[in-house]
Amino acid sequence: MARDGDEALELLQTPRGPELAILAWMLQGVDGPGICERIRAQDAEPYRYLILLTSKCEPEEVARGLDSGADDQLAKPFHPVELRARIRAGRRILDLQNQLISTREALRYRATRDTLTGLLNRGVAIERLQQELTRASRQKAGGMAVLLFDLDHFKHVNDRYGHLAGDEVLREVARRAQDVLRPCDHLGRYGGEEFLVILADCGPEAALVVAERIRFALADRPVRAEGAIIPVSASVGAVTSGQGRTGEDLVRLADQALYEAKGQGRNCTVASWLLPATGQLTG
Ligand code: GH3
Ligand code: MG
Ligand code: MG
Repeated sequence: MARDGDEALELLQTPRGPELAILAWMLQGVDGPGICERIRAQDAEPYRYLILLTSKCEPEEVARGLDSGADDQLAKPFHPVELRARIRAGRRILDLQNQLISTREALRYRATRDTLTGLLNRGVAIERLQQELTRASRQKAGGMAVLLFDLDHFKHVNDRYGHLAGDEVLREVARRAQDVLRPCDHLGRYGGEEFLVILADCGPEAALVVAERIRFALADRPVRAEGAIIPVSASVGAVTSGQGRTGEDLVRLADQALYEAKGQGRNCTVASWLLPATGQLTG
């Protein structure tokens, strides 16, 4: 129940507000067709099924009501049996609509996620990297950073404990890495046992802190999988934006730093900015 048109409109605009409304045409504040127009202009979800209740029965008036965005119109005085039947019809439309939305969401999830870990898939992770890079260059202020990490001797994990245990380790690695990130950061599965981290609004020092946090979160305690206790560690390459670097540059530089980390004995972080162009360390 709403006291007037304005309150009805407000109720219909709250995310958990009613999905179906029976609206009088004449209301104090915004009128029935006005409510329909505003709700439709917002194109928001969930869909609101709007029934106009009116004594206006001329064809032009009926047309105006429906054109304002009403789904149905019922002439006053109405019979309760008819009103109930029209509400049932509305319920069917809403059920269909909700089914469509859940199917769409499931498809979207499948298209953007890695099936094993639930992290962003490679394509979407690269897209996010591009978006954050664009945002960083537009805002001029802080830059952004990218980490690429790769599990150490993971082939050995599969060989020794089996592929299923390997899969479970990958899932646990994803959880642990996600847990140390902020909501505004992005984590994707870049390849088999390689992960891409996109750190929004993040400078070099903070990037190294996050890299080390991820590394500790993995190496800190072994993973239990398939009845085995499996030690894990990762090598991390870090890079920051700036100097006109493209997304591709960032991934390439992070990969070089990661390669260097492997060379240094693994389970460590190497910052790209400490590597000269030749790939040798300076400090
Ligand atoms: P390094 O420390 O040099 O990275 O050694 P590594 O053994 O991790 O490197 P390598 O690239 O030789 O091996 C990666 C292994 O990751 C090989 C592959 O079987 C395994 N792998 C890739 N994707 C998956 C997956 O989805 N599940 C499982 N269980 N293993 C995977
Ligand atoms: Mg590896
Ligand atoms: Mg690898």
